[in-house]
Amino acid sequence: MFDLAGKVALVTGGNGGIGLGMARGLAQAGATVVLAARDAVKSAAAIQALTGDGLKADSIEANVTNEGEVAQMFQELMLRHGRLDILVNNAGTNIRKAAHDMSLAEWNNVMDTNLTSTFLCCRAARALMQEAGGGKIINIGSMLSIFGAPYAPAYGASKGGVVQLTRSIATAWAADNIQANAVLPGWIDTDLTRKAREQVAGLHERVLGRTPAGRWGVPADLAGIAVFLASSASDFITGTAIPVDGGYSVA
Ligand code: NDP
Repeated sequence: MFDLAGKVALVTGGNGGIGLGMARGLAQAGATVVLAARDAVKSAAAIQALTGDGLKADSIEANVTNEGEVAQMFQELMLRHGRLDILVNNAGTNIRKAAHDMSLAEWNNVMDTNLTSTFLCCRAARALMQEAGGGKIINIGSMLSIFGAPYAPAYGASKGGVVQLTRSIATAWAADNIQANAVLPGWIDTDLTRKAREQVAGLHERVLGRTPAGRWGVPADLAGIAVFLASSASDFITGTAIPVDGGYSVA
């Protein structure tokens, strides 16, 4: 039920952090994973780590905020691997400022990276998934898809948008046998949150105090949900948003 042998997965922002944790899980379940990101050196290191463990992995350099680059990315994926079964929209960023201090350029940067890229990749993937007889889309939201934070106006808007976009495509493409779901990670130790811990005083202690599991998550904590939502085990699950947060959202 969880076997992904013969499947091809594209993971945006898959060269580090949560994306790499999910990519590793998908590859361990048998998929060929293609990591899409901008930093070719970081991607090469990630590919080396995965293939060094005997997993099937490849990378494509792409800025997923750019419509033309997204089209080229899928073209290249089809040339190299011939099919697309799984899309993980994970590329993301944050600029931590209150709304009254945020410029339009900063707002657009966060919205483009987190939300518009997800729209662009989903839209381009649909026809390829139809060709494959169906597909699985996993969009990465956040606790800030649910909660507010004073320093995250664009991030929260983008991650709330990711959940609503997921619901919309889940309903539109169910007839194509495409299931689309969102994953809402809690606080996970990555480059992104290492920066947050430096910028937001007391964050580390607040996260530990509020998370019932009593620890920060690690990227490997996201592997299980990725495999579940990418596999036939979740064929009747679509349009939902699943927290993977050590209990943070119910505490
Ligand atoms: P990282 O900063 O470690 O990873 C972000 C990834 O996105 C990088 O691999 C980066 O690669 C890629 N990326 C950024 N911009 C672009 C772009 N324009 N085109 C292509 N790739 C891009 O962060 P995390 O692993 O923490 O975050 C991954 C996702 O999880 C994000 O969507 C984030 O919002 C979300 N999330 C994270 C949480 C956490 O606690 N860490 C909590 C909730 C959600 P490169 O620079 O090479 O392009």
